[in-house]
Amino acid sequence: MTVTTGTLYIISAPSGAGKTSLVKALIDSEPRIRVSVSHTTRAIRPGEEDGVNYHFVSHETFSAMIERGEFLEHAQVFDNFYGTSQKWLEQTLAEGFDLILEIDWQGAQQVRKLMPQAKSVFILPPTQEALRHRLTNRGQDSAEIIERRMREAVSEMSHYVEYDYLVINDDFAHALSDLKAIFRANQLQASVQTQRHSGLLGELLV
Ligand code: 5GP
Repeated sequence: MTVTTGTLYIISAPSGAGKTSLVKALIDSEPRIRVSVSHTTRAIRPGEEDGVNYHFVSHETFSAMIERGEFLEHAQVFDNFYGTSQKWLEQTLAEGFDLILEIDWQGAQQVRKLMPQAKSVFILPPTQEALRHRLTNRGQDSAEIIERRMREAVSEMSHYVEYDYLVINDDFAHALSDLKAIFRANQLQASVQTQRHSGLLGELLV
């Protein structure tokens, strides 16, 4: 069997745009796609699992990983540090899987420089009101915290223009189908298909 190299995808969104749920639904239905698990210094939230949502590490561990050059990219996103480990990423792509990095615009800029062939997708909420609603944590947060989250979201969204594809998450099923179409179209590119079907092409052209 010919082993083909997978495609690297960057997916960014402001928090509250539904990125994590869309990516989960995408990978549940597409066995050829994997998601990178980032390292972070932020505190674990209820419902999250170490090694599944993130590798939760101390500031010391994170700094040591930077010093050893273990991150493909890393950034401070608001109050916490996040980074993508290079080793797992290279292995996974070499095994032929498409790989998603769920990272912010700063990480996206770093990855584009290092891997210009990466495809990038930005997910937007349908309206400011919908975003505000999603950022309002069941009435438990103060107006000040919600306004801060809104400002952070607007700051992240201002980078949408740097991305190859835009998906508006108005209706979940529709947005998922848009996301699948992006991956499918890329998998059908002649350069990718030539690697995947080299045996067939060899047979057809004798
Ligand atoms: P959260 O803490 O809400 O899970 O994520 C906050 C932000 O950090 C999101 O915009 C998310 O995309 C970003 N992020 C998560 N992992 C990484 C990473 O490895 N690198 C970078 N640059 N950003 C990340």
